[in-house]
Amino acid sequence: MNAGTTETIRTTPEGKADLKSMLPQELEQYMASVGQPPYRANQVFRWLSQGITDFDQMSDLPKSLRETLAQTADLGGPRIARKQVSKRDGTVKYLFGLADGNCVETVVMQYAHGNSVCLSTQAGCHMGCAFCASFEKGETRNLTPAEILDQVIFAGLDSGLSISNIVLMGTGEPLDNYDNVIQFLRLVGHERGLRIGMRHISLSTCGLVPRIYDLAALKLQLTLSVSLHAPTDEIRSQIMPINNKYPLAQLIRACRDYFETTGRRISFEYAMIAGLNDGRDCAQALCGLLRGLPCHINLIPLNHVEGSPLKPSGRETVRRFQQYLQGRGFNATVRRSLGGDIDASCGQLRRKAMAGKKD
Ligand code: SAH
Repeated sequence: MNAGTTETIRTTPEGKADLKSMLPQELEQYMASVGQPPYRANQVFRWLSQGITDFDQMSDLPKSLRETLAQTADLGGPRIARKQVSKRDGTVKYLFGLADGNCVETVVMQYAHGNSVCLSTQAGCHMGCAFCASFEKGETRNLTPAEILDQVIFAGLDSGLSISNIVLMGTGEPLDNYDNVIQFLRLVGHERGLRIGMRHISLSTCGLVPRIYDLAALKLQLTLSVSLHAPTDEIRSQIMPINNKYPLAQLIRACRDYFETTGRRISFEYAMIAGLNDGRDCAQALCGLLRGLPCHINLIPLNHVEGSPLKPSGRETVRRFQQYLQGRGFNATVRRSLGGDIDASCGQLRRKAMAGKKD
């Protein structure tokens, strides 16, 4: 930004100043607009990362400023509409209600290496993958950086679990909400904020090729996960409409470029669907497709979605597929499924809530 130009102040969909979506330097600009010195920005930034729910909790700000903020700015903070805790593994799933009546899902998972939170980046998703519960024909909207950040803050506060890792694998396509997601990454990693750095973050995409090149150019140290799910255009186009726009040759070229530019190994997600993508021919085609590309292949037995004709592959089929890949030098693991008793796979809880269904 050139000196002297006026940047616009971020606002919420309701038109208030969206403080929680702002980095300290943007907050400084906002503070200047309400006649405050720059150091107020850091004070406010720290409070916002702590998940306060009332401006009066900002105890080191003068009362007059707290009143000004309450009138002109938004504090964010979602409402917990539903919460489920897995009895099996402690996975906690939240349905957060947003200011406009929409809702999003967030899941906290406990692993030996630390707790991980799975975030939504959009309310709904219009990518239309056949196996996914998040797809909706109706309105979807991008979440603001604050709405993404709030999921980390409030899931952490409510669960009492300290969050060390983030996966952008909930509802929505992160690269379809590119600018807000990048701003979120800067907010959550900020040294005066939650300090969750890029190496602790995975971003999953169904394959928006131009955005993969954009992301590569930023050279962030995050892990890019690509939802591959099929080794041929014929199969992939059947289950992922995005493949008609960006077929496999383009997608894998972008992945190779991503690795060369960032030096970061890509993680490929491969949901195993009985009789569709789980045969030896597919394993062989997958090896051909990814030959020479340093990567990790994550095999995920499909989570069955109510009403879907697609069924998960059997345990033995998954194991054989994994062994085939490993035998050809690929790093392939089978993802452990958490929260199976609480609708923890993406979109399931939101889908029920939006349909007004009780369970
Ligand atoms: N839109 C992004 C991120 C959200 S989905 C993407 O497509 O990557 C997160 C991951 O869950 C993706 O790999 C997605 O393909 C996978 N997924 C969705 N529904 C699933 C299901 N029923 N079973 C297994 N994996 C699923």
